[in-house]
Amino acid sequence: MGKVALVTGGTRGIGKAISAALKADGYTVAANYGGNDEAANACAEELGIEVFKFDVADFAACKDGIGEIEAKLGPIEVLVNNAGIVRDATLHKMTPEKWSEVIRVDLDSVFNTSRQVIEGMRERGFGRIINISSINGQKGQMGQANYSAAKAGVIGFTKALAQEGARKGITVNAIAPGYIDTDMMSGVPEKVLESIIGTIPVGRLGKAEEIAHCVSFLADEKAGFVTGSVLTANGGQYIANG
Ligand code: NDP
Repeated sequence: MGKVALVTGGTRGIGKAISAALKADGYTVAANYGGNDEAANACAEELGIEVFKFDVADFAACKDGIGEIEAKLGPIEVLVNNAGIVRDATLHKMTPEKWSEVIRVDLDSVFNTSRQVIEGMRERGFGRIINISSINGQKGQMGQANYSAAKAGVIGFTKALAQEGARKGITVNAIAPGYIDTDMMSGVPEKVLESIIGTIPVGRLGKAEEIAHCVSFLADEKAGFVTGSVLTANGGQYIANG
């Protein structure tokens, strides 16, 4: 059995592509998901991996879920914090529920899962934590004060934990994807989509596999000198320096 990698939200969209890439790289992949059993079961069958249902926004559920994964498959050496949601609204229309749901699923989750694996990684002297942020956490996005705040928070978390883990062989990096063709984008009206594509210099949406390729690179043992970085993958839409 290979090293164990946990991908949160690893059963659909970008996460599913990450699960597939890490499986191809030789990892034993555990894919977490939140509620869509049908997609999760189809993903498990297609990729030949195990799937685990728990809410990443819930600390106790993460403790139980990750405990179950480690008991079944072994210690987690690679953690990919990918699960995320959007609940868009301009601030003057944003409810407290929309604010906290996004902060809990997109930001608290990164604490909830990383906290469960960090002690083991420190003891073993090796670990890879890869956090999926977003272009909108770097530049901000109208209608997404909640999402932009959560994704910017993920970048701050990454930079702090990178410093804590460095001497223990643990690298912590973030990836900031631009607009990627997944279910998350399916709610965007055609006209808005066209105007978004118009702002992307490569002239298209990104593919989930292109983000998965970034994860493969950062997870590799040979990437041990890369830590605390934010890898921007957005087709040139926003040239960020961190
Ligand atoms: P999808 O909506 O396609 O998939 C989301 C995944 O996260 C699903 O597997 C879902 O599980 C899981 N999930 C959602 N909420 C929870 C929860 N509370 N607990 C456990 N799992 C949960 O999203 P994408 O693939 O598009 O996005 C993946 C990540 O990439 C997100 O963090 C997103 O913010 C980020 N991103 C996406 C971009 C894009 O253009 N698509 C751009 C930049 C960043 P289930 O199937 O059970 O619902």
